Amino acid sequence: MNLSESCFAHRLKNSLQTRPDMYKKPLATCLQWCFLLVALVLVSSCPVSAWSEHPLLAYPVLSPLPGLAQREGIPVKSLKTFLLEEEAGLESLLENQEAWSREHLTHYAPRPETLAFRATGNPDDVLKRFFHAIRINPNSQMRLYLHLLPGESPSGKEEVSPRTLTTLSDTSEMHGTRYVELVEGELVSPLQVLCTANDEPDFGLDLGLFEDNGTDYGALYGFGNQPFGNPNLEYSSQAPFHMGFYHESPLVFFFGPFLQETYPEYRIHLYKSLSDYAFQSGQDYWGWRFMGWAMHYLGDLSMPYHASVLPGVSPTRMIWTNLKAMLGMPQSRDDAIQIVSNRHTVMEKFQQEVLRRAHREHSEDHPFFQALKNPVEMIHYTDDFPRQVAASQAAAAAERTDAVLERWMPPRLVADPGFEVSGSAEMSDLVASVAEQGGDEAIDQITVAIAEQLRHYSMHLRSFYAACMVE
Ligand SMILES: [Zn+2]
Repeated sequence: MNLSESCFAHRLKNSLQTRPDMYKKPLATCLQWCFLLVALVLVSSCPVSAWSEHPLLAYPVLSPLPGLAQREGIPVKSLKTFLLEEEAGLESLLENQEAWSREHLTHYAPRPETLAFRATGNPDDVLKRFFHAIRINPNSQMRLYLHLLPGESPSGKEEVSPRTLTTLSDTSEMHGTRYVELVEGELVSPLQVLCTANDEPDFGLDLGLFEDNGTDYGALYGFGNQPFGNPNLEYSSQAPFHMGFYHESPLVFFFGPFLQETYPEYRIHLYKSLSDYAFQSGQDYWGWRFMGWAMHYLGDLSMPYHASVLPGVSPTRMIWTNLKAMLGMPQSRDDAIQIVSNRHTVMEKFQQEVLRRAHREHSEDHPFFQALKNPVEMIHYTDDFPRQVAASQAAAAAERTDAVLERWMPPRLVADPGFEVSGSAEMSDLVASVAEQGGDEAIDQITVAIAEQLRHYSMHLRSFYAACMVE
């Protein structure tokens, strides 16, 4: 995770260009830059996939819901067919959605009028018109496919390569998973569509959307420059859409106002509206698929490292660390970056590795399965839920979770700033590495801490599902 100083300079230059108002308060501005620099690099260092492989979590949450698994098969339909059949209705739906976003989302970047979806009837550019209107990566694949759980049989369906599902050039994260092709018109289980779609927003839908990402569409979308994260790194440009920092201290927001420029609420409301519309129009396949997309972002917000900028690090320490870096002593800052990034990565990896095994072995009693099947007390879903319930709870648990990882993960992985966990030998079998150093107690302690988060994750998805079903 060696971020060059040129990245700092680039961000600083961009921010000066886009935030001329900050010149008005010289002292505040100076202090804000101090914080801005450290926060930029810290956030940009984090992995941005939140939970790894969302269907591993979504399936145990959703499959027991009354009637869902038993629903009859629905016909698969391509996005293009759906759009052509629903053009007129979508034009007004997306107009209403834009009005809602402008009214309710404080830091929303309005969609340029030229991108509004118009029902022209032209099949040649309908996908592009839609992608532009909802401002996602127009290279998104939108394949008709299913994600198989570990050990699940392809049932005669053709397997598809991850390369045909995502726009990411690095697909190594997907190699342990099998995907199968669907054919337009065939019947498919709604539960499978829903769980599959829970992973799809990590397949490149939100990549390159900012003006300084060097894409032709980013230049059109009106999101401005990437508020945080390194705009030169392919995967990091989705971070502001998959993270939500709503519960930092006022001091943090004072020094880093750009941290509020995040968009998961926009995505959740947009995809929920599309899902509701699709169901009302008898387009069930897209009703379930859009619902799964929305759930993805809600799930991301339940991950502590996606709802808290720097778990366990006080704002004053952040500022002090960066001041030292500015005085030519960058070591503490660089160390903090590496450690937070490593903890985030090992938490995801542990979750994925353990859940893959539990699925493969049908370990119904595993604490992760038990947590996912036994959510915390339900809170009714409203438009404020992603911020006031999901992210709030995750932010509140961030410091505690971070402390458990620090205590029980092998020190090299979570406390050695000279070590990069990604690609390391320990990560190829993380559970074994943990057991080797900390024994069963380490496995148990980490499992309990993650399971506690999963009980919240489960409630978030179930509450959202209930809200979708009543409309
Ligand atoms: Zn995500």
